[in-house]
Amino acid sequence: MLKPSVVKELKKIVGPDNLFTSSEELVVYSYDATQRESLPWAVARPVSTEEVSKVLVLANREHFPVVPRGAGTGMSGGSVPIQGGVVLSFERMNHILEIDEDDLIAVVEPGVVTGDLQREVESRGLFYPPDPASHQFCTMGGNVAECAGGLRAVKYGVTKDYVLGLEVVLPTGEVIRTGARTAKSVAGYDLTKLMVGSEGTLGIVTKIIVKLLPLPESVRTLSAFFSTIENAAVAASSIIANRILPRALELVDQAALRAVESYLKQDISSGAAAMLIVEVDGPIESTARDIGRVEELMTRAGAMRITRAETEVEREQIWKARRAISPALYTIKPKKVNEDIVVPRSKIPDILRAINEIAKRHDLLIVNFGHAGDGNIHTNIMIDEAEAERAAIAVKELFEATLRLGGSISGEHGIGLSKARYLPMELGADALGVMKKIKGTLDPNNILNPGKIFLSAE
Ligand SMILES: Cc1cc2nc3c(=O)[nH]c(=O)nc-3n(C[C@H](O)[C@H](O)[C@H](O)COP(=O)(O)OP(=O)(O)OC[C@H]3O[C@@H](n4cnc5c(N)ncnc54)[C@H](O)[C@@H]3O)c2cc1C
Repeated sequence: MLKPSVVKELKKIVGPDNLFTSSEELVVYSYDATQRESLPWAVARPVSTEEVSKVLVLANREHFPVVPRGAGTGMSGGSVPIQGGVVLSFERMNHILEIDEDDLIAVVEPGVVTGDLQREVESRGLFYPPDPASHQFCTMGGNVAECAGGLRAVKYGVTKDYVLGLEVVLPTGEVIRTGARTAKSVAGYDLTKLMVGSEGTLGIVTKIIVKLLPLPESVRTLSAFFSTIENAAVAASSIIANRILPRALELVDQAALRAVESYLKQDISSGAAAMLIVEVDGPIESTARDIGRVEELMTRAGAMRITRAETEVEREQIWKARRAISPALYTIKPKKVNEDIVVPRSKIPDILRAINEIAKRHDLLIVNFGHAGDGNIHTNIMIDEAEAERAAIAVKELFEATLRLGGSISGEHGIGLSKARYLPMELGADALGVMKKIKGTLDPNNILNPGKIFLSAE
């Protein structure tokens, strides 16, 4: 609990209206998309870098945890205050500070909703490619902290490929600037890359400089349905093997399709076992050619049905099914254990086979969908309470199979709380030791987001 004198100081820093301490208010900031929850002791809503810095100085003096929070859409428990303390919410630091159309950069505060930035730059003929499926509500600060990926990562990469520089408040309160506003910079260690993906454990991001691209002239989308998931996986591999780089290449399995159909009350797949969504972008002539070639490849791979979107409304129809998956899954079982393993894309058929065997061995329903184009499959073990123990064994086996195939236990959701105990399996003791030294150097009192990435006891 916070001492009354500390509450008083916090109120002085952010203003009394921006410090919440009542249980009704605290509960709103106690969970994320993992459904893990833990009440903070207080929530502060700073409006400036200076206020953030003062909170951290106070936290170091008084030794209370500080947990940064964007929109709470994280899939690994990163913003859940498991050790209590003060949640710093960036809802007031939500301004697009600058869009420089000559240098193709934008400067934003951490609380800017990703979709708002995308819409704003697109209205000027520019493009911010990172596109997590949560873009309508997640924030840029959360995206930087998790190195969010998304649907367009297959062609355009992930958040770290767009962040040129940051303003960061270190756990001890100092404010540093990393990177530059330029396309290149090798001045010293790359602290920008160190911060991106650090899950709010090494510093609090208060400004973000991102690079922009010209908006592609046209986009073409199709969906293709297959009688087996193996056929769909092979079809997905054939696209890139034929030198077409789509901007999105999504795979949805049968269980996810059935859940979406019952959720939307709509027949989408006519009984198919898997769906691929393929989207290409670029100049009009090249997208027309590429989508035609993708259609041929899908037919050759045995697609039962192919739907090419000819209008924006038809395109939206295709994506609606993909976006509905997350909520639809809760119609199957009350809980999902969501993992986001990634394997080299050529190994997708192998990992799907391994997942199928794990599901059979433990008599569990595992639903798979995700970014097949970059080998990143969201595996959702759908459970009720009685199945939780079996699910935990299945997760370990899933990670073992992933690592055997040369993959990683998290493609884009981060380690957070949920995967901390499996991190040594992937990194080994030496690399993990280096990471802990970095954390210990920057955060000697372990006040910033404690218990994330590394197990609390470590
Ligand atoms: C339906 C749905 C679909 C999703 N699809 C995708 C997807 O396609 N790709 C993908 O990558 N993710 C996806 N996600 C996961 C999630 O949206 C991303 O991880 C996102 O980046 C989290 O942003 P947030 O603002 O909600 O952050 P939060 O959940 O609030 O926080 C996430 C982490 O960021 C830290 N943090 C927040 N702000 C700051 C800051 N200013 N400085 C330092 N640390 C900070 C927090 O402490 C926490 O560790 C999805 C989630 C949902 C619910």
